[in-house]
Amino acid sequence: MRPFRFESAADVEGAVATVAEHPAGAYLAGGTNLVDLMKLEVTEPDLLVDVRTLTSDRVEELPDGGLRIGAAVTNSALAGHPLVRERYPVLSQALLAGASGQLRNLATTGGNLLQRTRCVYFQDVTTPCNKREPGSGCAALEGFHREHAIFGASRSCIATHPSDMAVALAALDAVVHVRGPGGQRRIPLAELHRLPGDVPQDDTVLEHGELITAVDLPPADWAVRSRYRKARDRASFAFALVSVAAALDVQDGVVRDVRLALGGVAHKPWRASLAEDRLRGAAADAENFRAAADAELAEARTLPENEFKVPLARNMILGALLELAGDQR
Ligand SMILES: Cc1cc2nc3c(=O)[nH]c(=O)nc-3n(C[C@H](O)[C@H](O)[C@H](O)COP(=O)(O)OP(=O)(O)OC[C@H]3O[C@@H](n4cnc5c(N)ncnc54)[C@H](O)[C@@H]3O)c2cc1C
Ligand code: SF4
Repeated sequence: MRPFRFESAADVEGAVATVAEHPAGAYLAGGTNLVDLMKLEVTEPDLLVDVRTLTSDRVEELPDGGLRIGAAVTNSALAGHPLVRERYPVLSQALLAGASGQLRNLATTGGNLLQRTRCVYFQDVTTPCNKREPGSGCAALEGFHREHAIFGASRSCIATHPSDMAVALAALDAVVHVRGPGGQRRIPLAELHRLPGDVPQDDTVLEHGELITAVDLPPADWAVRSRYRKARDRASFAFALVSVAAALDVQDGVVRDVRLALGGVAHKPWRASLAEDRLRGAAADAENFRAAADAELAEARTLPENEFKVPLARNMILGALLELAGDQR
């Protein structure tokens, strides 16, 4: 590991100013992803600023009925929060499907959103990787890509975003609060992460030095009927091959509202808008659920080793919707 400086800032403004002034500076939260990448020499910050005690570690009710999640709230605390479990079960389930108990006790909301891809070539500095070293090539295209993207990939990068929590937050229309050198801004979760295009080194739309301070969940009556399903190689301690965050609101047998987001399939949590559009106002039955999943997956572009993700995603969307519809009969 390379030498680096470690600082604790007095407040958010100080932390933002310090990191913004250092091109190779970074924020440290739980460290469960950043420190691993430093040990692998994938990333080599010369300065770390501890933000665990700077941002809120509380989940607060908002006047409109939504919730505000401080960036330092741990994945364990968020998953177990009574209001999250009651009003947004998909979020609690997504968090509990990720990592392990020990990791969730350390991992934070801000750090979870900004964790880097688990592409094996990204983590191996002896291989070409455009995300780690722009212009060097993408070893996954001709190599091991069973876990890689089927939506929105480019010739530059076919990596997926690994967060389970972010998939649930995308389905819930969450909004991210950010503080940067130029002030504050709010970013819809669905717009925080980006597709790789020609600049795969940028995972998100954040500028260097911007700090996530909180995430808002809007009020959502429909979210009480929500589920997270995750397919993975082992029953625990494994990233998603495909995951589905689903919410379904049925009245008199008709879909009044539906939210669907997929994980493990793209460089960002993939909101399945085509499927959602097809379902709103339609009868809540297996035929329509299947047609909606097919409409979304018609846009998939596969490679030889990840073709299996298409039928897997289709079955998972169908299963989640049938389960939610069954609960409302
Ligand atoms: C063995 C293993 C298995 C795992 N399995 C899963 C899984 O199945 N599903 C899953 O979703 N995750 C999984 N994870 C990943 C884990 O969830 C992340 O490592 C964790 O959420 C990152 O949070 P952190 O607070 O430790 O972030 P850190 O490692 O501290 O930081 C991560 C990144 O975010 C930046 N950062 C941190 N906080 C902020 C902030 N407030 N504003 C701006 N930038 C910030 C850091 O600079 C860094 O770039 C696994 C990890 C391991 C090691
Ligand atoms: S898929 Fe992306 S992260 Fe993986 S090797 Fe290619 S460029 Fe790197």
